[in-house]
Amino acid sequence: MDISASGDRITTDILVVGGGIAGMTAAIEASEVGKSAVLVEKEPYLGGRVARMNQYFPKLCPPICGLEINYKRLRCNDQVKVLTLTTVESISGKPGNYEVKLLVQPRYINDNCTACGECEKVCTLEAPNDFNLGMNQRKAVYKPEMAFPPIYTADATHVKNAAFKACVDACKYDAFDLDQEPCTITVNARAIIWATGWSPYDALKLDNLGFGKYKNVITNVMMERLAAADGPSAGKILRPSDQAAIMKIGFVQCAGSRDENHLPYCSGVCCSASLKQTQYVREQYPDAEIHIFYIDIRTPGRLEDFYTKVDADEKIFFHRGKVAEIREAPDSNNVILVAENTLTGAISEMEMDLAVLATGMVPNVSTDKLPQDAKRDDWGFLLANNPSGIIGAGVANRPIDVANAVQDATGSVLRALQTLQRS
Ligand SMILES: Cc1cc2nc3c(=O)[nH]c(=O)nc-3n(C[C@H](O)[C@H](O)[C@H](O)COP(=O)(O)OP(=O)(O)OC[C@H]3O[C@@H](n4cnc5c(N)ncnc54)[C@H](O)[C@@H]3O)c2cc1C
Repeated sequence: MDISASGDRITTDILVVGGGIAGMTAAIEASEVGKSAVLVEKEPYLGGRVARMNQYFPKLCPPICGLEINYKRLRCNDQVKVLTLTTVESISGKPGNYEVKLLVQPRYINDNCTACGECEKVCTLEAPNDFNLGMNQRKAVYKPEMAFPPIYTADATHVKNAAFKACVDACKYDAFDLDQEPCTITVNARAIIWATGWSPYDALKLDNLGFGKYKNVITNVMMERLAAADGPSAGKILRPSDQAAIMKIGFVQCAGSRDENHLPYCSGVCCSASLKQTQYVREQYPDAEIHIFYIDIRTPGRLEDFYTKVDADEKIFFHRGKVAEIREAPDSNNVILVAENTLTGAISEMEMDLAVLATGMVPNVSTDKLPQDAKRDDWGFLLANNPSGIIGAGVANRPIDVANAVQDATGSVLRALQTLQRS
């Protein structure tokens, strides 16, 4: 079926919710077997969490390269309609015949935008940069990496501000449309793939580890942005308290994971993510001491070779121990990591410039608006063979890395084709 649109109603074969690597893959794969898809993404950009990584294991290459290939395949694909700034309001019907109400947020900028950037240059209004986890500010009119379409977006909270007029006046292309309102679109789809991915576990809940209390305790997702060239410090990893260089850094594995009081499961990627981040530090600070506190190092398959390589570095120290407490040193903003060896019970204390909490992945699907018969497992991931007929892909199904998310997304399309075949 080709996509057909009339007024605010779209008819398609497959609705894909979530424009991360899993959702993008699913939409492209569906189109390559001749099926139409509508891809819905809540942010103004595609790529999900992967777009916010500095490099990704196992190759340590910039993830944007791979994402851009998919992005281009979507841009010139008339079988896929991409709707960003869009979320699902409600789903009714059943496999073969779903009716889905979508809510589209205003961008305040229309297709006349050439992304020339003149509006951003004159903009005096700022907002916390969500892409960088609030670690810096961005302008109220901005163009995120992987923006889809590749144009600017403006903040709803600022467009009515008198100072915003300067941005509008700077535009030579009549691209501002400040009267835009949120609108509803109805999609009739025969199958639904759910790929809404993950959010980091809220480190503020780990009150023994000092996140939010001590400036030099950060999380693994913050570390990705600190190391990224388009991050808050233009790629230089600096201590948040004083912007000083890092000479001694501690990675705290299983920060909240495999813990009945927080996330009972292992996210499967955090060990490899921290090993990867040791390489960011090593590249910038050849003499820095790096300490990894772990319960078990879990690097399945080929990632074991990566672990072996990192382990060979004489200044990277692995400590078998669960970090029970982090406190601040009395005369500096250094942090003291108190760890208990999980085999001997011995307690150790080590002072670091910076601590990085390796927090796990929480499935967004645990709180998404789904029909009542959509079942989740005990941890909040979407159950396979779901009674609702909704098909999960990527981290909506289970905590996995990119390679597995891509395979999972391809598999989800086969399940969707079976739904189409039966209807
Ligand atoms: C610190 C860290 C580092 C990592 N590094 C690596 C690495 O180097 N290599 C690797 O292979 N893996 C890595 N991973 C794992 C990797 O991030 C995941 O495998 C990947 O993000 C899974 O993609 P996804 O599409 O399933 O989910 P996501 O990347 O989370 O994408 C989901 C998309 O859905 C959108 N969305 C969410 N809710 C809604 C909604 N209600 N409506 C519409 N859209 C919605 C989101 O905005 C997002 O765009 C790392 C994980 C962590 C925690």
